[in-house]
Amino acid sequence: MIVRPRIRGFICTTAHPTGCAALVKRDFERAEPLEGGPRNVLVLGASGGYGLASRITAAAGCGAATLGVSFEKAPAGKRTGSAGWYNTRAFDAIAAGRGLKSHSIDGDAFSDEIKSEVCDALADQFGPIDLLVYSLASPVRQHPRTGELHRSAIKPLGAPIDSRTLDIHTGEVTETHLEPATDEETQNTVVVMGGEDWEFWVDALAARNLLSERFQTVAYTYLGSELTWPIYHKGTLGRAKEDLDRAAEAIRGRLQGEQDARVAALMATVTQASTAIPVVPLYVSILFKVLKTQGVFESTIEHIERLFRTALYGSGDRELDDAGRLRLDGIELGSEIQSEVARRWAGACTENIDDLSDLESVRAEFLRVFGFAVDGVDYEAEQDIFDVPRM
Ligand code: NAD
Repeated sequence: MIVRPRIRGFICTTAHPTGCAALVKRDFERAEPLEGGPRNVLVLGASGGYGLASRITAAAGCGAATLGVSFEKAPAGKRTGSAGWYNTRAFDAIAAGRGLKSHSIDGDAFSDEIKSEVCDALADQFGPIDLLVYSLASPVRQHPRTGELHRSAIKPLGAPIDSRTLDIHTGEVTETHLEPATDEETQNTVVVMGGEDWEFWVDALAARNLLSERFQTVAYTYLGSELTWPIYHKGTLGRAKEDLDRAAEAIRGRLQGEQDARVAALMATVTQASTAIPVVPLYVSILFKVLKTQGVFESTIEHIERLFRTALYGSGDRELDDAGRLRLDGIELGSEIQSEVARRWAGACTENIDDLSDLESVRAEFLRVFGFAVDGVDYEAEQDIFDVPRM
């Protein structure tokens, strides 16, 4: 069938098999060799955004064997699979074509069953891992001990906020009003997006002797600037991310020798998860324009390559903040960048947003998350929605 984007709010309900595969291939091909990287890597949340970029960097840049876990929708009837479903199939095919070991598991990473399945697969096929990347972004978590289903809420804390936001599809800048979270909503967000599950993973792997002597684990956070603080850093998500900092310290306390656990603060980018956060699309559109104008823009894969090269491996300077986090967000948070973003933010409206921001390329980037708007892909060609083409 011919697959077209079908956009509903902040998500696209279709995904393009050939487009997804072409993007995975593009990132695979641009990876530069990285000496001293990991040999065996487990990526949780490996099918999109920062997790997929981490898996590609580990495999294509470092030659690592990778096990990726994600929770995606397979195609059914006339419904396409989710983008991550195609990305993962494309990844496995491209890795196999290059003689790189890869194995992918689709299921709920929060569950004990998937933890056991992953540990069995690692024990049988991989051996101890050098790197665990924790890159899950989920709106819900069923707690493996209580069975309770927790839902996260993206809300401010304490008081309501009024802020502007951008619909990247229509280009409309509107006011949005958000009521503060209740204590229960805040607690649920911490249960879903906090660090407990990261700890459970490290414990499960350690219990099976699956952590190598040089084992490192990294979980991703976003700190951002004053412009996004009300909805992010000082909101429910920020509270959950604070819990990641707690978990990193707790995990470090249980590791030995050279082993390490860090939270890495990354830049804002366009992914399925980030476009769902109010205010962020406006911020990212302006930010991208300013970063590009000043010649310091990094794509998602370039950003993760820098994480590997300068913070996790290689001989670069590793920047740790007071909370012990790896800081990759220095470019985004630089005072020149932020004051220019703030200046444009203050005057942004529907009439001038095309000039003030990089709306058009953020819109295209959003479509690319689902395999659309990819150069060189024929969108009039028939697609087999049950597989990806060999690349
Ligand atoms: P994403 O939506 O692109 O990817 C999320 C991944 O999690 C997918 O692979 C999905 O399949 C997987 N997943 C979700 N629920 C799962 C479950 N129950 N079991 C197994 N897999 C599951 O997200 P992203 O934007 O790349 O975010 C990844 C991490 O990076 C998050 O912790 C996020 O807070 C952080 N981060 C994101 C940004 C940004 O701007 N996107 C910036 C800084 C930090």
